[in-house]
Amino acid sequence: MVGKSLDGLKQWKCKNNHLLGIVERVHVSSDRGKYNVSRLILFRQAIDIDPTSTASLADVDVIGNIEGTVMDIRCSIPGCGEVRTWWMGEAALDMFLASRMVKV
Ligand SMILES: [Zn+2]
Repeated sequence: MVGKSLDGLKQWKCKNNHLLGIVERVHVSSDRGKYNVSRLILFRQAIDIDPTSTASLADVDVIGNIEGTVMDIRCSIPGCGEVRTWWMGEAALDMFLASRMVKV
Protein backbone atom coordinates (compact mmCIF):
# COMPACT_ATOMS: atom_id res chain seq x y z
CA MET A 1 0.00 0.00 0.00
CA VAL A 2 2.64 2.47 1.04
CA GLY A 3 3.49 5.07 -1.55
CA LYS A 4 0.88 3.88 -4.00
CA SER A 5 -0.78 6.67 -5.90
CA LEU A 6 -4.55 6.97 -5.92
CA ASP A 7 -4.51 6.92 -9.72
CA GLY A 8 -5.98 3.82 -11.25
CA LEU A 9 -7.58 2.64 -8.05
CA LYS A 10 -11.31 2.34 -7.65
CA GLN A 11 -12.18 4.92 -5.05
CA TRP A 12 -15.09 4.47 -2.69
CA LYS A 13 -16.52 7.82 -1.71
CA CYS A 14 -19.36 9.32 0.23
CA LYS A 15 -21.96 11.53 -1.48
CA ASN A 16 -19.81 14.58 -0.79
CA ASN A 17 -16.85 13.11 -2.62
CA HIS A 18 -14.76 12.28 0.41
CA LEU A 19 -12.64 9.20 0.02
CA LEU A 20 -13.70 6.48 2.46
CA GLY A 21 -11.66 3.65 1.02
CA ILE A 22 -10.41 1.79 -2.01
CA VAL A 23 -12.08 -1.09 -3.82
CA GLU A 24 -9.81 -3.93 -4.75
CA ARG A 25 -10.57 -6.89 -7.01
CA VAL A 26 -9.17 -10.12 -5.67
CA HIS A 27 -8.92 -13.44 -7.44
CA VAL A 28 -9.74 -16.34 -5.20
CA SER A 29 -9.44 -19.95 -6.23
CA SER A 30 -10.72 -22.91 -4.31
CA ASP A 31 -11.65 -26.46 -5.22
CA ARG A 32 -15.13 -25.17 -5.96
CA GLY A 33 -13.95 -22.80 -8.64
CA LYS A 34 -12.41 -19.42 -9.22
CA TYR A 35 -14.01 -16.20 -8.06
CA ASN A 36 -13.45 -12.52 -8.43
CA VAL A 37 -14.20 -10.83 -5.14
CA SER A 38 -14.53 -7.13 -4.49
CA ARG A 39 -12.88 -6.09 -1.27
CA LEU A 40 -13.12 -2.74 0.44
CA ILE A 41 -9.97 -1.32 1.98
CA LEU A 42 -11.52 0.96 4.57
CA PHE A 43 -9.69 4.02 5.89
CA ARG A 44 -9.90 4.99 9.55
CA GLN A 45 -10.32 8.63 8.57
CA ALA A 46 -12.02 9.74 5.37
CA ILE A 47 -9.90 11.88 3.05
CA ASP A 48 -11.03 15.18 1.59
CA ILE A 49 -9.55 15.00 -1.88
CA ASP A 50 -8.53 17.98 -3.86
CA PRO A 51 -8.79 16.77 -7.47
CA THR A 52 -5.60 18.59 -8.34
CA SER A 53 -3.60 17.14 -5.49
CA THR A 54 -1.29 14.20 -5.82
CA ALA A 55 -2.52 12.45 -2.71
CA SER A 56 -0.95 9.13 -2.00
CA LEU A 57 -1.89 6.31 0.28
CA ALA A 58 1.38 6.53 2.18
CA ASP A 59 -0.07 8.18 5.25
CA VAL A 60 -3.44 6.48 5.27
CA ASP A 61 -4.41 4.45 8.29
CA VAL A 62 -6.34 1.41 7.11
CA ILE A 63 -8.86 -0.27 9.40
CA GLY A 64 -9.01 -3.43 7.39
CA ASN A 65 -9.94 -5.26 4.21
CA ILE A 66 -13.64 -5.95 4.12
CA GLU A 67 -15.27 -8.68 2.09
CA GLY A 68 -18.68 -9.00 3.72
CA THR A 69 -21.40 -6.39 3.89
CA VAL A 70 -20.88 -3.58 6.39
CA MET A 71 -23.85 -1.38 7.18
CA ASP A 72 -23.69 2.37 7.68
CA ILE A 73 -20.06 3.32 7.32
CA ARG A 74 -19.98 6.96 8.36
CA CYS A 75 -17.78 9.58 6.71
CA SER A 76 -15.45 11.08 9.32
CA ILE A 77 -14.97 14.44 7.61
CA PRO A 78 -16.22 17.15 10.03
CA GLY A 79 -19.58 18.48 8.95
CA CYS A 80 -20.21 15.66 6.51
CA GLY A 81 -21.32 12.50 8.30
CA GLU A 82 -22.73 10.87 5.17
CA VAL A 83 -23.45 7.19 5.64
CA ARG A 84 -22.79 4.52 3.07
CA THR A 85 -23.18 0.76 3.11
CA TRP A 86 -20.66 -1.60 1.60
CA TRP A 87 -22.47 -4.55 0.06
CA MET A 88 -20.89 -7.90 -0.23
CA GLY A 89 -20.19 -8.52 -3.91
CA GLU A 90 -22.14 -11.20 -5.69
CA ALA A 91 -19.00 -13.23 -6.24
CA ALA A 92 -18.27 -13.20 -2.54
CA LEU A 93 -21.85 -14.16 -1.87
CA ASP A 94 -21.63 -17.13 -4.24
CA MET A 95 -18.46 -18.26 -2.54
CA PHE A 96 -20.03 -17.86 0.88
CA LEU A 97 -23.08 -19.90 -0.10
CA ALA A 98 -20.92 -22.57 -1.71
CA SER A 99 -18.81 -22.90 1.42
CA ARG A 100 -21.95 -23.12 3.58
CA MET A 101 -23.39 -25.87 1.38
CA VAL A 102 -20.33 -28.03 1.89
CA LYS A 103 -20.83 -27.95 5.64
CA VAL A 104 -24.58 -28.55 5.68
ZN1 LIG B 1 -18.04 12.83 3.49
